[in-house]
Amino acid sequence: MTVSLDELMAALTRELKPEQFKDYCPNGLQVQGRAHIGRLVTGVTACQALIDAAIEQKADAILVHHGYFWRGEDAVLTGIKRRRIKTLMEHDVSLIAYHLPLDAHPELGNNVQLAKILGLNPGSALSRQNNHDMGLVAQLPAPMSGADFAALLAARLQREPLHIAGSEAPIRTVAWCTGAAQGYIEQAVAAGADAYISGEISEPTVHSAREHGIHYFAAGHHATERYGVQALGQLLAQRFDLQHQFIDIDNPV
Ligand SMILES: [Zn+2]
Repeated sequence: MTVSLDELMAALTRELKPEQFKDYCPNGLQVQGRAHIGRLVTGVTACQALIDAAIEQKADAILVHHGYFWRGEDAVLTGIKRRRIKTLMEHDVSLIAYHLPLDAHPELGNNVQLAKILGLNPGSALSRQNNHDMGLVAQLPAPMSGADFAALLAARLQREPLHIAGSEAPIRTVAWCTGAAQGYIEQAVAAGADAYISGEISEPTVHSAREHGIHYFAAGHHATERYGVQALGQLLAQRFDLQHQFIDIDNPV
């Protein structure tokens, strides 16, 4: 089956409500391709390797979490940006991207989907920004050691996390925010969390974890943000009877 690009975009707008977000990039259709979509490829980042793999799979559209045209970046189409966009346009393939709307969505969002992967039961939001939730907090059913929690992350995400054991205490309350949200460690402390998970880590994150006495886990920006776009792709595939494939372009960060 196929769906028109217009109908697909209308469904995405209804589902993700991009107009409600103040974001660092345009959310929605970023590069317009052919008018009908039968085959959808999803991925984390619209890098050249994902575009090439999607074209090999005869995708009509690519749906990602990290698209293009970030605030502050040079607007000109040169270098790798030219090559990526040229490839999309030469093959008439659309690029559709959702950033914050796909982090915060209450069912499909990266934060809720990461909870499913880890078997966590989210209780409340970690914080709110511009009227949407940033991150989540959960109580563990039973306390876990930092080492056991690191092993759980490694098993479920197929990637060893970097664990900063700012505390020897067992973990009862976990907060998380996918991607590069290490800066929210203070909010995790304020929320009473014993452990905070994000994707990346910065030099000051280590000192924050140690001095606040909290476990910090850098579980991978890519690894923590694989799941929202897959859930969204599956929903679209079911709703419009499309072929859908998630393509994982490995990224150790
Ligand atoms: Zn991200």
